[in-house]
Amino acid sequence: MEYLSDRIKSLSVSQTLAMAQRSRELKARGIDIISLSLGEPDFNTPDYIKEAAKKAIDENYSKYPPVPGYADLREAISRKFRNENGLDYSPDQVIVSAGGKHTLINIILSMVNPGDEVIILAPYWVSYYDQIVIAQGKPVVVEAKLDNDFKVKPEQLEAAITDRTRLIIFNSPSNPTGMVYTPEEMEKIARVVERHEGLFIISDEIYEHIIFEGKHLSMASFDFIHDRVITVNGVSKGYAMTGWRIGYMGAPLWLAKACNKLQGQFTSGVCSIAQRAALAAIEGDGASQRMMREAFLRRRDLVCGLLGKIEGLKVRVPQGAFYVMPDVTYFLGRSDGETIISTSDDLAMYLLIKGRVATVGGTAFGAPDCLRISYAASDDLLVEAIGRIKKALEDLR
Ligand code: PMP
Repeated sequence: MEYLSDRIKSLSVSQTLAMAQRSRELKARGIDIISLSLGEPDFNTPDYIKEAAKKAIDENYSKYPPVPGYADLREAISRKFRNENGLDYSPDQVIVSAGGKHTLINIILSMVNPGDEVIILAPYWVSYYDQIVIAQGKPVVVEAKLDNDFKVKPEQLEAAITDRTRLIIFNSPSNPTGMVYTPEEMEKIARVVERHEGLFIISDEIYEHIIFEGKHLSMASFDFIHDRVITVNGVSKGYAMTGWRIGYMGAPLWLAKACNKLQGQFTSGVCSIAQRAALAAIEGDGASQRMMREAFLRRRDLVCGLLGKIEGLKVRVPQGAFYVMPDVTYFLGRSDGETIISTSDDLAMYLLIKGRVATVGGTAFGAPDCLRISYAASDDLLVEAIGRIKKALEDLR
């Protein structure tokens, strides 16, 4: 007999992690799988960051760190917000958590009452939906379509807002689409938020450094809603530090205090060594970030060029992050003679088994017509993987 809460039963397993697990199992059986399913840079953490962590161990950063993060790290993040984003968050408005994922759940648990509505923009990052469910909130999905570059129109957002809407979660550059909202498009969304008193917006800017055209713009830089924006960021993607688990936010002081209280009961301050490494990362000169961005740009062009030549795939060229999300409707209902492909999840499974490439079906992202491909892999592997995908798709009739 299992004794599980309704809360845990209401959660789904992260599809991206499930796909990664499946491809690890096949690899363990000796099958050569190319994994384009996970959301992490393939680079190693830059040396100057690793050196800072080693030094921190030698300097005995081994005691409980302060719950909201070391003071010098929060000061550095406050300076980063000012210098890179033009945002004014004092160090006591900054809370450091165990990854952007942890930052997000802190915010959601601190702000959402049972039954409160939280708007997410599909295609969305998988965990938004389930984090809202954990808080007993109601996810309200506003769908952006490929023909609008996967961007939500302000009137769609306006139509979804009710008296119970507490939060909107906004993410640009986006996981899973790689799309970046223009300043004009962002301002229109900010104006919608402005019109609704008591409505807040989380701006998840975790991919801010991986942007190929123009400069990243923070939602909180629109002064007229600054006090109603919570800016979420972290070192995972921009500094190739997914395993170190450091995320942070800039927030109104009352919310920073609430998240501090929650974190104090839940996790305490996050890993001391990882915090010292994150401090070095944030204070670095940005050279390694530029190198990684250039590599991602080159790979984006490579992958989109190759995908564009596959009959039936509809591809929009992303402007940021390291994902591309082709529409695969053309292949639904087809078969290779053995397997019938009814959904994009079936297609992802088919590509894994037949093509030996791991991708993720779109259902978990609220985009059932699409497939997410992560291009955080070497150029050679990408060429080989897209070749395999092409061949497997050509067998579907
Ligand atoms: N937001 C988005 C959009 C993401 O893609 C991710 C990582 N996949 C996160 C937040 C969380 O990243 P982390 O917890 O590693 O900081």
